[in-house]
Amino acid sequence: MKILVMNAGSSSLKYQLYEMTGEAVLAHGRVERIGSDSAIVTHEAAGRPELREVKEMLDHNAAVKRVIELLTDSGSGVLGAMGDIDAVGHRVVHGGESFKASTLVTNEVKQEIRRLFDLAPLHNPPAMMGIAAAEANLPNVPQAVVFDTAFHQTMPMETFLYPIPMVLYKRHKIRRYGFHGTSHDYVSAHAAEKIGKPLASLKMVTCHIGNGASCAAILDGKSYDTSMGLTPLEGLMMGTRSGDLDPAIVPFTMAREELTLGEVSSMLNKHSGLQAISGTSSDMREITDAMQEGDKQAKLAFDMYTYRLRKYIGAYAAAMNGIDALVFTAGVGENSIVFRKAVCEGLTFLGIELDERRNAVRSKEARYISSDASRVAVLVVPTNEELLIARDTYRLVNNRSQA
Ligand code: ADP
Repeated sequence: MKILVMNAGSSSLKYQLYEMTGEAVLAHGRVERIGSDSAIVTHEAAGRPELREVKEMLDHNAAVKRVIELLTDSGSGVLGAMGDIDAVGHRVVHGGESFKASTLVTNEVKQEIRRLFDLAPLHNPPAMMGIAAAEANLPNVPQAVVFDTAFHQTMPMETFLYPIPMVLYKRHKIRRYGFHGTSHDYVSAHAAEKIGKPLASLKMVTCHIGNGASCAAILDGKSYDTSMGLTPLEGLMMGTRSGDLDPAIVPFTMAREELTLGEVSSMLNKHSGLQAISGTSSDMREITDAMQEGDKQAKLAFDMYTYRLRKYIGAYAAAMNGIDALVFTAGVGENSIVFRKAVCEGLTFLGIELDERRNAVRSKEARYISSDASRVAVLVVPTNEELLIARDTYRLVNNRSQA
């Protein structure tokens, strides 16, 4: 079965085509600057050189049409015909409280995703455009949706509610949802596999540290708590996002700096985090390079970043009354040796002991970086959200045809 995985942003579309037998990626690529006369298409089919083109693409429909042309083209393609695509899996950021798992797309599902636009005005509308474009271009092909929030729907009330008037939850569904769920789900399952014990028997903290960053407490095989909240702004310090802060800073800054609500929101989402403290970059590679050259602001940014994550890991260990495994993933988590070292060095009291040599190895496979004596297994597990979307889609389509 061949499954096309799509991740639609407001002006972008990323895709991967999977052959589910052997879970091989047959082709992948992205379209950027959708909505302009100079959209950029990058496409790579297994074993062929990368193709790049610039052309007018006024909407997501045109982008999906072009992707299908490229996949079936005699030169760049890997499919004989459009009909070879058996199903499409879409990433949708916000599933609210309505979606606790991935599901096949129906009219009711689309209606519900539209109802959730309010909660994710930047993310859910483009995902809907992607779904509509896929339906228009691939009629009669089953479509599935996989939500970033779904994995965290197992959080109990004491972790997902904010201590503010209940009426705000009842009226507007203001609560903590958490994000990166597909990644936390994928890496926690893989870590348990690597350890060789059932996930449900392990108390685990998973750290997805990329440009956006979140960690999750996995208890009894389920998400018990996670650092992002109503929106992906809460929690850890990130590339350009502040993460946790005193909410009184918002009105205070508005008054002192004469800023609007929109300006403060932009400050916290786009001009804070590593970028704000280092004064130079939101990119961990540049921060660590600058730090090694003696840049004090970069060092301060790095120290704050690792300190805040350490606090979360400690808090989650307390929340679960212990921790058996700590997992790092995403751009920084998978690649930055100094970052992992700095986080783990301060956590020896929990029984975390890093093996310097194992930590220094780079690989695309899940691996241990803790010493044999470490009471807590520390692992790097490369995330693969697209593969999980493909697997969920495959399962849903198979179940449907068996029903
Ligand atoms: P996104 O949230 O956009 O998916 P990624 O998971 O790709 O982000 O992570 C991007 C981050 O990963 C950047 O801060 C980048 O500096 C960092 N990163 C990527 N490769 C390395 C590396 N070799 N060493 C340190 N940091 C890295």
